[in-house]
Amino acid sequence: MKNILVIEDNENMLSMMNDLLSRSEYHVISATDGVAGLKAYRTAKPDLVITDIIMPNKEGLEVIMDLVKETPRLKIIAMSGGGIMEPRTYLSLAEKLGADEIIEKPFRPADLLALVAKLLA
Ligand SMILES: [Mg+2]
Repeated sequence: MKNILVIEDNENMLSMMNDLLSRSEYHVISATDGVAGLKAYRTAKPDLVITDIIMPNKEGLEVIMDLVKETPRLKIIAMSGGGIMEPRTYLSLAEKLGADEIIEKPFRPADLLALVAKLLA
């Protein structure tokens, strides 16, 4: 079973993703901000990290930079519903920093699952 770490500060979104991925036979580890996310990454060493961008304590772009520095080949999906800027602005930065795939929120569950399956194939 593949392990996926989801870093997302919105509890409803996190629980939706947890249900979705668990039902698809993935083992999910979750964290609600960037600091907790990095800590969870180091403990669990997941196969894939899915991270939100706008989060308290440490935001997703910084998380992606730290993850890539630690594990250059790590698979990462960045997701964003935007903030001060539009989602695609954050997501194109995420891509430049090393995210393998990006997805704009809200997304269709099937679209996220397709990205996950592609990266974990
Ligand atoms: Mg957020």
